[in-house]
Amino acid sequence: MTRDPRPFRWLAPVLAGGLGLFGGPVSAQSAADLPAASTDAFLHVVAHEMGHAFLREFDIPILGPEEDIADDFATIYVYLTLPDRAEAIISARARQHMADGDRPGMFSEYRSDDQRAGRSICLLYGQDPERFDAMARRFGLDGDAAGNCRDFATEAGRSWRRIIDDYRMPAGARVTEAGVDLEETPIARALTESGALDEAYALLSGIDWHSRVTLTVKPCSGSSFWSRNGRRITICDTYLLRFADQLAD
Ligand SMILES: [Zn+2]
Repeated sequence: MTRDPRPFRWLAPVLAGGLGLFGGPVSAQSAADLPAASTDAFLHVVAHEMGHAFLREFDIPILGPEEDIADDFATIYVYLTLPDRAEAIISARARQHMADGDRPGMFSEYRSDDQRAGRSICLLYGQDPERFDAMARRFGLDGDAAGNCRDFATEAGRSWRRIIDDYRMPAGARVTEAGVDLEETPIARALTESGALDEAYALLSGIDWHSRVTLTVKPCSGSSFWSRNGRRITICDTYLLRFADQLAD
């Protein structure tokens, strides 16, 4: 596909001689130290928020807990779009969930973090059990549980392909409705320099959105969210800093 010539836009002008977010001169602001696994986990988060956008923008029937559906979309869509990177991305996000270890209450919209990790590992494993066998074993997925994954994940993958294929960007089509807005921070610089932002853009621009969808990474407290008003996926710097702590090499 043809890439928007300027898909990335720095929001904040660099103030010559000023002070950066972390106290250094802005003009010499360096990239934050983000382990590769943390930027990999970031890509699954981007895909998860794209899942919410996909459901809402295209009025896809939501026949189950939306957070689960968005997680499954993320896993399958990463596998379809960045197949050679899927194992690293999904493993990293699973490890990050396990590090969080939240156990929500009975009315939460989320499953426990262990279940979210297990579900994505299971789903990816089932797409190609031979290829992902070692990954599954690293996470302790074997025996009957692995058999269950081989059974249902094949069907889930096929179901998602049928849905997603109707909305994928045709090969060679010019991308006009996907963009990235960044505030100039050490996190944003690290995402750019590591190539993670290019991969995020590859994910975002793989869907034929009817109106512009924008990915923003900026200083904010919280994690990540999809906002229909403005069609924006926002990922907070603090979320990535947490990943960097949890997934240190
Ligand atoms: Zn969500």
